Amino acid sequence: MLPLLTPIELERYHRQIMLPGLGEMGQRRLKNTTALVTGVGGLGGTAALYLAVAGVGRLILVRGGNLQRDDLNRQILMTDDWVGKPRVFKAQETLAHLNPDIQIEAICEYVNADNIDSLVQRADIALDCAFDFKERDLLNATCVRWGKPMVEAAMNDMDAYLTTIVPGQTPCLACIFPEKPDWDRWGFGVLGAVSGTLACLAALEAIKLVTGLGEPLLGKLLTMDLARAEFAKRRAYHDPNCPVCGTLRHESSSPHCLSQRIR
Ligand SMILES: [Zn+2]
Repeated sequence: MLPLLTPIELERYHRQIMLPGLGEMGQRRLKNTTALVTGVGGLGGTAALYLAVAGVGRLILVRGGNLQRDDLNRQILMTDDWVGKPRVFKAQETLAHLNPDIQIEAICEYVNADNIDSLVQRADIALDCAFDFKERDLLNATCVRWGKPMVEAAMNDMDAYLTTIVPGQTPCLACIFPEKPDWDRWGFGVLGAVSGTLACLAALEAIKLVTGLGEPLLGKLLTMDLARAEFAKRRAYHDPNCPVCGTLRHESSSPHCLSQRIR
């Protein structure tokens, strides 16, 4: 049974409830959803912001480490006076001010083999915004294991890519990138407008998947060259022998939204 919306929620979300394909039922599905966001930085923090204001009922934010001054060009939930303190708690505070109607859990840890299963099990959907492929591979394998959808968003300099993974229905991250791109964990340049662009699209993927609005990037990889404003949508390769998802039976005729699954 989906939760009802309060009068304040009906008012807060009025302009998006007006959207054909979202409506009051879509809003109730958002309220009933728990989203896990890993890597709450320029990408994950901004994605979390748009999930929060859209009314996703519960956010689990996972990110270790303290805020550094050179994070501030893109981590828009942070403030200068927070430098040296744990980022994830400031993200929680900022989002709670933006939308007091949702629950926000902040965990000051990096995703690892010890915490990942319980995090994924508690979530309906995950947004992979981690900064390295070790965490990304771990989240991908765990989401496949528990049958949880995952929005995969990553960037390097002015390039970005995005896809939405539904285990048993689409290729997984290990199918798409069996060999990891040679991205420097700390060394690449980043503009807040680039990570923010990708973050908005990632939040939109999650909202589409939960509500049934539009068409998420299922089995499709969106690549973006934001230096030239060039976008391409490619079919994502499914490896039948994938070590992560190869044993799952893939059903291409599955419905294009999780509204049946997330209730
Ligand atoms: Zn796979």
